Amino acid sequence: METYEYVIIGGGMAGGKASEGIRKVDERGHVVLITDEAHRPYERPPLSKEYMVGEKGLSRVYLRPESYYPEHDVEVWTGVRATELSPTSHVVTLDSGEQIRYNKLLLATGGRAKRLPLPGNGLPGVFTLRTIEDSDAIKEAAETAERALVLGGSFIGSEVASSLTQLGVEVTMVFPDRRLLERVVPEELSAFLHRMYKDRGVRIIPETTAEKLNGSAKVADAQLDNGETLSVDMVVMGVGINLNTQLARDAGLELTKEGAVAVDQYLRTSDHDIYAAGDIAAWPSMTFREATLSGGPKRLRVEHWDVARSQGLRAGGNMAGDQAPYTTLPYFFSDLFEFSFEAWGDLSAWDTTVLRGCLERGSFAYFYFRETRLVGVLAVGRPDEERKPMQELVRLGPQHEKVAEALRTEETSLSKLIT
Ligand SMILES: Cc1cc2nc3c(=O)[nH]c(=O)nc-3n(C[C@H](O)[C@H](O)[C@H](O)COP(=O)(O)OP(=O)(O)OC[C@H]3O[C@@H](n4cnc5c(N)ncnc54)[C@H](O)[C@@H]3O)c2cc1C
Repeated sequence: METYEYVIIGGGMAGGKASEGIRKVDERGHVVLITDEAHRPYERPPLSKEYMVGEKGLSRVYLRPESYYPEHDVEVWTGVRATELSPTSHVVTLDSGEQIRYNKLLLATGGRAKRLPLPGNGLPGVFTLRTIEDSDAIKEAAETAERALVLGGSFIGSEVASSLTQLGVEVTMVFPDRRLLERVVPEELSAFLHRMYKDRGVRIIPETTAEKLNGSAKVADAQLDNGETLSVDMVVMGVGINLNTQLARDAGLELTKEGAVAVDQYLRTSDHDIYAAGDIAAWPSMTFREATLSGGPKRLRVEHWDVARSQGLRAGGNMAGDQAPYTTLPYFFSDLFEFSFEAWGDLSAWDTTVLRGCLERGSFAYFYFRETRLVGVLAVGRPDEERKPMQELVRLGPQHEKVAEALRTEETSLSKLIT
């Protein structure tokens, strides 16, 4: 049985970047990256945005050119699934039956798109979106479709609705929440987005779910629980992911209550030689040590591109001997029509927000406060010189009463608040 110094399971952002993180520290150790997809590591954000609307080609979706991996002595095994992991013997079993041994292993297995359990959910013309192939299939269907139904009002649903509209398809969005992006943006911003989507021809039906999809050769209509039936040519479900944690579970690694892989600040799992990164990993955020008010560091798990990127790099470095804690401030971005959103910190819960700038002007930032401290910021169209101080402020977690007025006042420079 062949032994590899480093085995990476998963070829998304976290897995791909881990191979680079390893190479920054160890130029020689034998690295193999195993992915069950047909592609070398790639990033997913363009799949609902520039790649879907044809502004970005496939070559720019991949993390690195094909030549990168052989040049850096990283073996990439595509179309190969890891089926079993034995921490005691340090052995991974592959779907071919072959077994390999590792010294250090990274689990970067991410997630797979959920499909709502509706009658008709498997009809041709009903899509989920996680992979290049999914995005290709949606794009192809959009060439002939006149009407699309998007199920889900979070980022993926909102981005797909935006892209399909740009491709000339008439879109209806249906979701059970009261408003778009309900879990991450304040009510006022959702209301603004509803107006913006409406102006661009998207119909939004909140607080509603689809009960059944009908059709014979392909999907033809959707029955909603408000009694309405929509004629549709295609349906896209953007309703979240299931984490690929079966390998970790079967291997006996510690999981959190929500079923994520628990890691320490070095991204190491409950097994000394196994690390985890990206969508599956729940880590004790040191970034929020100060900002966390009710007891020790807060355990975070974030399904975002930059977390997968930075954790992949950090986990790779640590596997190769770095021993450095993961302290990157969580960051994400999204493009909805002509608006580019950027956010730093934790937007998962807040008591109050402070608005800087103006929604209608397309230049604004919301500062999120929880238990009186600043925990996150979401910005659209703000001047470049505000980006750094925004991140710094979130790291510092100042009290609402000390900064609210200054944050609201655009004439007050954010860098002045850092001290
Ligand atoms: C359409 C779309 C748009 C997005 N847009 C944004 C955005 O604008 N901003 C943002 O911050 N985030 C965005 N995200 C989220 C971001 O892409 C994810 O957080 C990121 O992909 C997570 O990376 P990962 O490496 O942890 O997991 P993944 O990207 O899911 O990669 C995991 C890989 O492991 C493989 N795998 C799983 N199990 C096995 C196994 N047993 N054996 C071998 N291989 C296995 C999977 O097939 C997959 O290739 C978007 C996601 C999608 C789907």
